Amino acid sequence: MHELSLCRSIAGIARRAVADRKVRTINLDIGELRQVVPETLAHCWQLVAVGTALAGSRLEVNRIPAVVRCLECATDTTLSGLPILRCASCQATTVEIVSGEEFTVTSIDVEV
Ligand SMILES: [Zn+2]
Repeated sequence: MHELSLCRSIAGIARRAVADRKVRTINLDIGELRQVVPETLAHCWQLVAVGTALAGSRLEVNRIPAVVRCLECATDTTLSGLPILRCASCQATTVEIVSGEEFTVTSIDVEV
C-alpha cells in the first residue's frame, strides 16, 4: 500500500529527528499529485506507530494544490479532481509542474 510505505518513511525521519523524545504531531506538506488519501494515511500511521516511541502521535497534513504552468501561454492552472495535466486557458498539454509533488516533513512537535 502506497500510504503504508509513506508512513514508514515518515517514521524513519521522525525517529532520527527526535531520538527518544515523545512525539505529539508530525507536520507534513503533501502535494495533491501524490494521490494520498488522508484517512488511509492516518490509519496506516497508527499501524506503523503502535508499539514504538511514535505511538499516540498524529500526522497533520498540509495539502499543497497541484499547479501546472503552460509552456505555450504561461498560464498557471490549479488542477482539481483527476490530475489531467492541461492548461485551463489554451488547453495545451505542454505544461510543467509548478507544485503538487511535495512530500516533506516540515516540523515535528515533541512533548517538553
Ligand atoms: Zn496555455
